[in-house]
Amino acid sequence: DVRVRFCPSPTGTPHVGMVRTALFNWAYARHTGGKLIFRIEDTDAARDSEESFHQLVDALSWLKLDWDEGVNVGGPHEPYRQSQRTDIYLGVIEKLVASGHVYESYSNAEEIDARNEAAGRPKQHGYDNFDRDLTEEQRAAFRAEGREPALRLRVPDTDLSFDDMVRGEITFPAGSFTDFVVVRPNGAPLYTLVNPVDDALMQVTHVLRGEDLLSSTPRQIALYHALIDIGVTSFVPRFGHLPYVMGDGNKKLSKRDPESNLFHHRDRGFIPEGLVNYLSLLGWSLSHDRDVFSIEELIAAFDVEDVNPNPARFDLKKAESINGDHVRRLDVADFAARTVPYLEKAGILTAPLSPSQAATLAEAAPLVQERITLLGEAPGMLGFLFTDAAGLEYDEQALASLPANAGEVLAASVDALDRIPAVEWTHEQLQEALSGALIDGLGLKPRVAYGPLRVAVSGRKISPPLFESMQILGKDDTLARLNRLAA
Ligand code: GLU
Repeated sequence: DVRVRFCPSPTGTPHVGMVRTALFNWAYARHTGGKLIFRIEDTDAARDSEESFHQLVDALSWLKLDWDEGVNVGGPHEPYRQSQRTDIYLGVIEKLVASGHVYESYSNAEEIDARNEAAGRPKQHGYDNFDRDLTEEQRAAFRAEGREPALRLRVPDTDLSFDDMVRGEITFPAGSFTDFVVVRPNGAPLYTLVNPVDDALMQVTHVLRGEDLLSSTPRQIALYHALIDIGVTSFVPRFGHLPYVMGDGNKKLSKRDPESNLFHHRDRGFIPEGLVNYLSLLGWSLSHDRDVFSIEELIAAFDVEDVNPNPARFDLKKAESINGDHVRRLDVADFAARTVPYLEKAGILTAPLSPSQAATLAEAAPLVQERITLLGEAPGMLGFLFTDAAGLEYDEQALASLPANAGEVLAASVDALDRIPAVEWTHEQLQEALSGALIDGLGLKPRVAYGPLRVAVSGRKISPPLFESMQILGKDDTLARLNRLAA
């Protein structure tokens, strides 16, 4: 059975590239009926933070990417935070040392450089496997100098190949890398050790991760062979390296770029359905002619073997347009409910809504749902409905757009509207009365006629449909707004 994992280090805020990795692991687990493990690689106390950890959980939860084992949900391989697994690593390290796969290395960087130079090897050759066969006397002599050893893995002198699920056969010829450090002289095990050790113990079958980690894969496979030899596991997982996510200027989407921050998109009003759909297109596609699809369709179709190895470009315009499609697909009551946090944040409403606020929102929701791509546009579109005439704020551009005859238009409108009884205050009636007074009566073009009314009612040049908005506001409020702008 497929067992995949998402195992971020909790540093900084969740990055869209990293969330794309989580999504592909999740989709593969759901597609295959396998399990997703969520493990936290928090072995770097200087860089890791609890805040980041909570943000990672929050990010996955918001996107509804659930996990079967891991932090917060538990599972058979607890604990799922590496900072709590030190004893487990010490046990494995002991076995690796006892079996000779790992050995004590006392060479420091200067000594390695000096030996490389003396032997005419380039500096980037790196470590020369010098300490592989130190005798017990030599080791004792180093210890007597007060030196602490690093531990290095004895790397077999053979080509190392694997069949990458995204990239196909990849070979690292013998000598591509030398014996590497798995435990620092201070006793701290490194990523190159703890990551495969946990994958092995947790019986991970497929390692799907970013292309930036491709260079550590042969080392990890070499370590896997040692782990198999000492009985920690019985198999090497398959690997699949997901393409880079590029930002503007064809550069890797950098942490400093606000677009790289998942929560930036949430704050602007992406909905999870829309963002998940878009993120899935960063290296994958459902079909060549369909960019918008549901989570169920993604799960049904997703396969790592179909991931494109070429860099993917983060295209905000496309992401927004896909989000707009998903916003329009929402059930209208659901849509209305999802605008509330954005209305709250803009200071327009406070939950829980009063019955009349809830009714206004329910009436207005269908009018704006068709017109926005991001929920963050909702406050601008709906704000005028939750204030009275005196409190309405006018947008400067909207005021500047008023034609010279705005006063006349408003006066004629008040006159016509005043004659409609409150019980007949429907958008059909309003339209009939206003078009009679302004288009037929004053001979105005609709744009000139209704522009000032829109500004009077909403304070903006762009708003939900005018007559429906007036219907929602009711007769008194509408007339008060027209009178206020006319004055
Ligand atoms: N903690 C590593 C990272 O965030 C995990 C990489 C991996 O998937 O192996 O880069």
